[in-house]
Amino acid sequence: VKRDIVADESWMEYANCLGLDPDWFFPGRGMTDDLRQAKAVCAACSVREQCLEYALNPKRPMVYGVFGGTSERERRQIRAARRREQVA
Ligand code: SF4
Repeated sequence: VKRDIVADESWMEYANCLGLDPDWFFPGRGMTDDLRQAKAVCAACSVREQCLEYALNPKRPMVYGVFGGTSERERRQIRAARRREQVA
C-alpha cells in the first residue's frame, strides 16, 4: 500500500493545500516559522494519511516542511519509532 502511494500520486489532486502559500508549509523559507496554519489545513485534508506515508517513504523521504499534518521533527520521531518496531 505504501509503495502505491509513492507510485500513484493521484491522491495529490485532493490535497487541501493546493494553491495555498507554500511558506505556510515550509517555515523558515518564508517569513514565518509558525506551523499552526499548515497543520490546520492538514487537519481538514481528506488525503492526510496518504500524504504522511508519502512523506515517510524511506526511499524518498520528505525531510523539510509540513506533510500529513506533521513537522519535520515529528516525522523524524515517527521514522525512529518505526525503526524500533522493526528491530523489536
Ligand atoms: S495533509 Fe497537508 S500537506 Fe498533505 S496534502 Fe493534505 S493539506 Fe497538503
